[in-house]
Amino acid sequence: MSNDQGFMKALKCRECGREYPLEATHVCEFDFGPLEVVYDYDKIKKSLTRKQIESRPQTMWRYRELLPVAGEPTVGFQVGYTPLVKADRLAKRLGIRELWIKNDTVNYPTLSFKDRVVSVALSRSRELGFKTVACASTGNLANSVAANAASAGLEAYVFIPSDLEHSKIVNSLVYAANVVGIKGHYDEVNRLCAEIAGKYGWAFVNVNMRPYYAEGSKSMGFEIAEQLGWTVPQHTVIPMASGSLLTKVHKSYQEFCKLGLVKETPWHIHGAQATGCSPISAAQKAGLDFFKPVKPDTIAKSLAIGTPADGFYSLRVMKDTNGHAEDVTDDEIREGIRLLAECEGIFCETAGGVTVGVAKKLIAQGKIPADDSAVLCITGNGLKTVDAIQNHVGKPQEIRPSLREFESILSPKQRSEVKA
Ligand SMILES: *Cc1c(COP(=O)(O)O)cnc(C)c1O
Repeated sequence: MSNDQGFMKALKCRECGREYPLEATHVCEFDFGPLEVVYDYDKIKKSLTRKQIESRPQTMWRYRELLPVAGEPTVGFQVGYTPLVKADRLAKRLGIRELWIKNDTVNYPTLSFKDRVVSVALSRSRELGFKTVACASTGNLANSVAANAASAGLEAYVFIPSDLEHSKIVNSLVYAANVVGIKGHYDEVNRLCAEIAGKYGWAFVNVNMRPYYAEGSKSMGFEIAEQLGWTVPQHTVIPMASGSLLTKVHKSYQEFCKLGLVKETPWHIHGAQATGCSPISAAQKAGLDFFKPVKPDTIAKSLAIGTPADGFYSLRVMKDTNGHAEDVTDDEIREGIRLLAECEGIFCETAGGVTVGVAKKLIAQGKIPADDSAVLCITGNGLKTVDAIQNHVGKPQEIRPSLREFESILSPKQRSEVKA
C-alpha cells in the first residue's frame, strides 16, 4: 500500500468482497455490486481521538481520517458542523420526552446536507486529476455541485428533471454551471448520466465517484454523536431518496463504536419518504427485503427517486436496528414544515416536512416510544421550495399607512393591549 492513499485501503464490492484500486469507479465488474471505500482502522485509531477531534475546526473535516480523501480536502473546507438544536416545543407537540433537530438547513454554502457529499466528491475528484465535474440531481445536489465547482474553479455539468422548483433551478444557474434540464423524472436523468459518464472523462459525483461521494454523508452522524456528548441517539429519523444518507448515518455510528469514540448502546434508524414516492417505506411496512420501483408524484421533489440505488441496503439497516419506515402525503408534508417553523423557528424544505411528518406518525404509533429520545435529520432549507408552501401560509394583511386602518384590523383583545 502506498501512503498517498491516506487512511483508505481500497474500494471493495459490497456483495462479493473483491477489491479494486482507489479510482473513479463504482460497480463490481463481476456481479455489479456497489463499491465501498475500505479504511485502515488500526491506523485511524492512532490519530483519531476525542481530544484530537475537539481541538480541530468546527467543520465536517474534523473527522477527516474517516472521509475518503488521500490528502487535505481542497473543496468545501467550511462545510458541516451544523447546529444540533434541542427542540422542546416540537417535542411537546409530537408527544415525546426528548427531541433534537440536526439542522442542515443552514449548511454551508448551499443550505442542504448535499454540501457534505459534494465537498468530499470534489476534493477526491481533484486528487484523481479531473477538471470537469457533473451530477444527476433532484435539485440540491445540482446547487451544491454548481457552487462548490465555481469556488474551486472546476467546470460543472448538472443534470436535473426540467420540472424542478424554480428556486433550485436559479440556484444552479447563478454559479454559471452548465445546467441541463431533462424532460423526464430523476430515474431517467440518472440513466442518461450513466451513459454520459461512460463516454466522457468527467467526474460524475453520484455515478463514477459515488463510493467517495456517499461517504460524505457519514459526517452528519459523526456530528450528531459528538454533539450529544459522544453518545449515539436512541432514534434517528432520516429522509430517504436513494437511501444513501440513511445507510451512512448508521455506518457512522458503527465506526465511532469500532474506534471506541462512543459507547455501544442500541440505536434505531427510521426512514422517511413521501407517499407519492415511497418504494422503500412501502417495502419496509410490508416486511419485504426488496422494493418495487415507482413513478414519483410528490411535492418532495428532492426525495423523488423511484428506483433508489441504496433501497435494498436501507431496508437492511432498518431491519438490523429494529427501525421503521413511514410515509406522508403532500398535506402532511406541508403540516410538517409548518410545525417545525412554528415550534422551533426553523424553515425547512419539503424533505424536512417529510421527516417531521413521519416522526409524528412513528411517535403516535408507539414505534418511537414517548419516553425515548430522538434526532430528526432536517436536510434542506425552506427558501429552496417556497413553491410548495406559498399558497398554504396565509397572506399579509394589507392596509394604507394609517393608524386608524391598522387598528381596524386588530381584534378586541389586541386592541386592549394599548398602553395605560
Ligand atoms: C438528497 C437529499 C436527501 C437524501 O438523499 P439520499 O439519496 O437518500 O442520500 C435528503 N434530503 C434532501 C433535502 C436531499 O436533497
